[in-house]
Amino acid sequence: MFKLSVPQPNMLDRNHLDYILAAMKRPETSRVEMRKISELVRTRMNPHPAGQKEENVPQLDGKPVSGLQHKYRETVLFFPSEGQYCHAYCTYCFRWAQFTSVGSEQVFKSSNRDVLLRYVQQHPMVSDVLVTGGDPMVMPASTLRHYLEPLFGPGSPPHLDTIRIGTKSLAWWPYRFVHDPDAADILRLFSEITASGKHLTIQAHFSHPREVEHPVTQEAIRLIRMTGAQIRSQAPLIKHVNDQPKTWASMWKLQSRLGVIPYYMFVERDTGARDFFSVPLTRALDIFSSAYSQLPGTARTVRGPSMSASPGKVCVLGETTINDRRYFVLKFLQSRNPEWSQKVFLAEFDPNASWFDDLKPAFGAKEFFFNEQYQQQKLNVDGGSSGQLCDVDWLAGKGVTSDSGQVDLSM
Ligand code: SF4
Repeated sequence: MFKLSVPQPNMLDRNHLDYILAAMKRPETSRVEMRKISELVRTRMNPHPAGQKEENVPQLDGKPVSGLQHKYRETVLFFPSEGQYCHAYCTYCFRWAQFTSVGSEQVFKSSNRDVLLRYVQQHPMVSDVLVTGGDPMVMPASTLRHYLEPLFGPGSPPHLDTIRIGTKSLAWWPYRFVHDPDAADILRLFSEITASGKHLTIQAHFSHPREVEHPVTQEAIRLIRMTGAQIRSQAPLIKHVNDQPKTWASMWKLQSRLGVIPYYMFVERDTGARDFFSVPLTRALDIFSSAYSQLPGTARTVRGPSMSASPGKVCVLGETTINDRRYFVLKFLQSRNPEWSQKVFLAEFDPNASWFDDLKPAFGAKEFFFNEQYQQQKLNVDGGSSGQLCDVDWLAGKGVTSDSGQVDLSM
């Protein structure tokens, strides 16, 4: 828990650390200069991984919509301006740029609920809106209501089924739902959403069983479930924090007992202090498989280890050996083109690979099966013809044409 919340010197690579320390030691370094130096180092740490800025920002009326991301056909992400802060500032946060460059062009945020509503109305394939940040639960109940009411109140888009709220509040400020002055207003809002016929799911960020054990957390879970909302739990696998099977098994078991649905184990993204926190994929698979095998069927709702890479969420299903050669077995859980999710594909086994970009296609193929289509879409974006690399433009039913590195094992 200490390393989850307190930055460690070794999170910086040696050059960056020396650069920062040297600046700190110079008596003439002003706070302004120190800030500039820190910003410079931050810009070298891949602040917006997986093409978020270039590929996920959608358009409305021919213009980019700030504060929205639309990567997968069914789901739109909304970043309310007042929610771009957090109860916990996790050291491994993949959204750290939201907090470190507030006010700069790096931040995703919007206070325009009308644009969100119009965007959803104009995209009938969108069934889910994920309100995210930061942490939307830092907002007062009245602000949260302001953003959500158009999505579930009278006149709300009939094709919108689910409102998701991503939050770490259950782990770090469960009082939000129990003792805070507007706790009852929050729960009333949740009840109204579920009574409207929409599904409300709290995407709870729990990294460690310790975060689930607190009595106030358990009371908050009980109160939220009484509103008819579901709670799903997700977290990245982080070295020094939760890289043991027993940690995940005990967390998922406890969550199941409390009625929380284990949902995702993510692989640490290629951003920030990734070298300090990342776990090789083969180890991640071992941890996931070992923890999963200890669960009863009712808790085997969890998926992973999953990489939220640029083309989509790639799950490492397992390892296999063909003609004495080892391979990773992969599958998209979500992808920019929904058709990609129908395929199982292989990558060469690499004991040191810790992210999708480290992997090579199997059998000497030059590229993965989806790459040709993906690159073509990127060209369209770069050329300004689309502005968004979301699969909403792909619904005409293009087939997956390249079969390089692809093995259809399951379909
Ligand atoms: S809870 Fe999520 S958004 Fe907030 S600091 Fe942690 S990882 Fe980042």
